[in-house]
Amino acid sequence: MTEFYESFAKTGRAAELIQKGRFPCGCGRVHGANVKEVIIGKHALDALPGVLGRLGAARAYIVSDRNTERAAGGRVAGILDAAGFRLDRFVFDRAFVEPDEPAVGAAVLNMCGGPSSGTQPPEGKTAVVAVGSGVINDICKILAHMTGAPFVTVATAPSMDGYCSSTSSVLRGGLKVSVASRCPDAVLGDTEILCAAPENSILAGLGDMIAKYVALFEWKLGHIVTGEYYCELTANLMREALDKVVSNAPKLKNREPEAVEAVMEGLVISGIAMDYAGISRPASGIEHYFSHIWDMRGVSFGTPVALHGIQCGIGTVLALEGYEKLFAQKPDFERAKRAHDSFDIDAHAKKIAERLGPGGALIASEIKNRRLYDPAYTAERLRKIEENYREIKDEAEKTLPSRDETVRLLKGAGAPVRPSEIGLPDNEIPVDFTMTRDIRDKYILSSLVYDLGAQIEFGV
Ligand SMILES: [Zn+2]
Ligand SMILES: [Zn+2]
Repeated sequence: MTEFYESFAKTGRAAELIQKGRFPCGCGRVHGANVKEVIIGKHALDALPGVLGRLGAARAYIVSDRNTERAAGGRVAGILDAAGFRLDRFVFDRAFVEPDEPAVGAAVLNMCGGPSSGTQPPEGKTAVVAVGSGVINDICKILAHMTGAPFVTVATAPSMDGYCSSTSSVLRGGLKVSVASRCPDAVLGDTEILCAAPENSILAGLGDMIAKYVALFEWKLGHIVTGEYYCELTANLMREALDKVVSNAPKLKNREPEAVEAVMEGLVISGIAMDYAGISRPASGIEHYFSHIWDMRGVSFGTPVALHGIQCGIGTVLALEGYEKLFAQKPDFERAKRAHDSFDIDAHAKKIAERLGPGGALIASEIKNRRLYDPAYTAERLRKIEENYREIKDEAEKTLPSRDETVRLLKGAGAPVRPSEIGLPDNEIPVDFTMTRDIRDKYILSSLVYDLGAQIEFGV
């Protein structure tokens, strides 16, 4: 049995990448993955005792919530108990856990208060075992970062690409922020558990993957316009995982293991690609900023919020529509200069603060320091765009799928494609669009539209 799982652990694209170790790349950087083991497939859960053993752990602190406990927590505990591990367990006694101060605090306190607290027992370390996806993983990543404990995630849904990232998305003081955390040492995705995940969470994983089309194009766009770092190998790695998800997507509706596995693996590889690049460029672009805006409005004003990946899928459709409409126009570089001269940054900042609440006020207060609005730098970017317009357009045509085929793919799987399908007014897209460029300092579609002084008529 052990031999079977040992060989099992070495198969799959993510496992191959891990085995590659650290290597110098043509982009000038040395790449390596932070995750040490990725096991995705049938009966992957049975490999858990071996994984913990290899990490030097003799005890496990298992964290779950009510749903993930039912999906996998009991089985995880049973397998580890049978293998002779000492267990401490913490189950959030509610179905919906927010990644806020009380939740993170409760997970920390229960780890400290358990029988395995204090100095590490001589027979081995205590590992943190997260049983869940988004929130549980985010909380445990912080826990692992604070304690330095070995850390394994047992995925219960292929729902988002944060499994292997080194930051956690949390609510601090009522604001959604990213805090430093730690990537798991190992990620286990048992197909049986993943295929039984709620439909919405599988569709969210699909949306977070489809988003990579836009992310990868915008990374290249940023490279051309601002000269930022770009790695072709990393982009290709992401594209390969994305292609696998897309070619298997029709099988998602019936939850065929192959398709669910492709999504899970793509999400893990997305984390590895971010490790390689040292930035989130391979995995997120403007579609993620639409999602951030909807999240911020949800926190501030109680407007509807859907799963991260569901929102990213809708944002991807909007981005593709935007690119198609922009590239159908003839660029007018003189008009662009006039638009920059008459741009009212104070009015724009005021609009952001009003629409996005406290998080928006923070963005608005710093907006004048943003390089995007520096007149000299804007002129320099515009010159770059003019020089390279053909290349930018060709790259878009070569790498972006059409809006219509993406809508068909998402709809075919059962995913929403318009904001109104998740309770957000479609007629607010234009105003949200103008704010996407201000969420982070990343060059995206809305930055390009600003630079060109262009207008996009969404939904027309
Ligand atoms: Zn590289
Ligand atoms: Zn994402």
